[in-house]
Amino acid sequence: MSQKFNAIIAKKDSDGKFVAELSQITTTDLPDEDVLIDIDFSTLNYKDGLAVTNKLPICQKFPMVCGIDLAGSVIESENEKFSPGQKVLVNGFGLSERYWGGYSQKQSVNSSFLIPVPENFSTRSAMAIGTAGYTAMLAVNAIRDHGVKPSDGDILVTGSVGGVGSVAITLLSNLGYSVIASTGRIEQSDYLKDLGAKKIIDRTMLSAPGRPLDKESWAAAIDNVGSSTLSNVLAKTNYSGIVASCGLAGGSDLPGTVLPFILRNVRLQGVDSVQAPLALRERAWKDLSELLDLSILESMTSVAKLSDVFDLGKQIVSGKIKGRIVIDVNSI
Ligand code: NDP
Repeated sequence: MSQKFNAIIAKKDSDGKFVAELSQITTTDLPDEDVLIDIDFSTLNYKDGLAVTNKLPICQKFPMVCGIDLAGSVIESENEKFSPGQKVLVNGFGLSERYWGGYSQKQSVNSSFLIPVPENFSTRSAMAIGTAGYTAMLAVNAIRDHGVKPSDGDILVTGSVGGVGSVAITLLSNLGYSVIASTGRIEQSDYLKDLGAKKIIDRTMLSAPGRPLDKESWAAAIDNVGSSTLSNVLAKTNYSGIVASCGLAGGSDLPGTVLPFILRNVRLQGVDSVQAPLALRERAWKDLSELLDLSILESMTSVAKLSDVFDLGKQIVSGKIKGRIVIDVNSI
């Protein structure tokens, strides 16, 4: 008989109401995919918070194992590219939406979703990075690919105490950029400076509806907030600058004008981590392995148990989480 293990499963109860709970399953319950993984760690992203609280309908099929990220060792593989014992990770690709995800001690995953864990990372550090950190790298690469150099001016990061923001600050700082961090938690200024931010601003300076064009203040920006914050960020971006739009922590609307685009040649660059093609992902993970200082990553990371996900999920959607949280799926 297959051994039981723990997983967080979202389902609809008899009244059609969403429930996410800690459950026990066996390998025979897992989907029929070509690689079976012994998961060491998952992580907590904003989207995981949305999923387990059902604040937005992230899970599109039920029952669903939540968790958009996972890292662990291959147990068995039908694809010769992956062999037993190999350390692998998955970010996004519809995990926790259409495919069973990482809040489980084991998972069966489509091999086309897998990335080998870079040699200098453990499965724990891979999940300290997680989707948030890999998205930060995609955004930083969008800025670099646009040709923005450290000498061009400051780079703004909004939502900076959060996961994407924290990793973005340290990556930009390691690349020699001067970072302005926007936060609602000014009391975390020392934390942000330790990550590499040169200047801290209060997010209220950007959150109220502003002018369609304002004083040019940064060469590029990584925005995790959306809504009027993103409009103001665009209005204050230098001529020919770029804004990488990653998130919607403040709202998914964009109440602005086209003036930054047609008068300042500003580019608004979307950043999608979920369906990003493999080549972009592999480049991002290679860059992360070369650029990220593991001691700084550790300083922004804490570890929690699988059963903590429910409370932490509420905290992340209320903007209360600092840095990154790794979920030890083998600890309840
Ligand atoms: P976190 O919750 O860790 O960080 C979000 C941060 O945004 C908070 O820490 C807070 O920073 C700020 N914030 C929260 N609420 C508000 C608000 N109402 N108004 C203004 N600022 C607010 O989440 P993540 O870092 O994991 O994700 C950040 C965003 O990026 C999310 O919207 C997420 O959905 C999105 N995302 C998108 C991805 C993609 O593929 N495009 C991938 C990963 C994440 P502070 O306290 O410093 O102000």
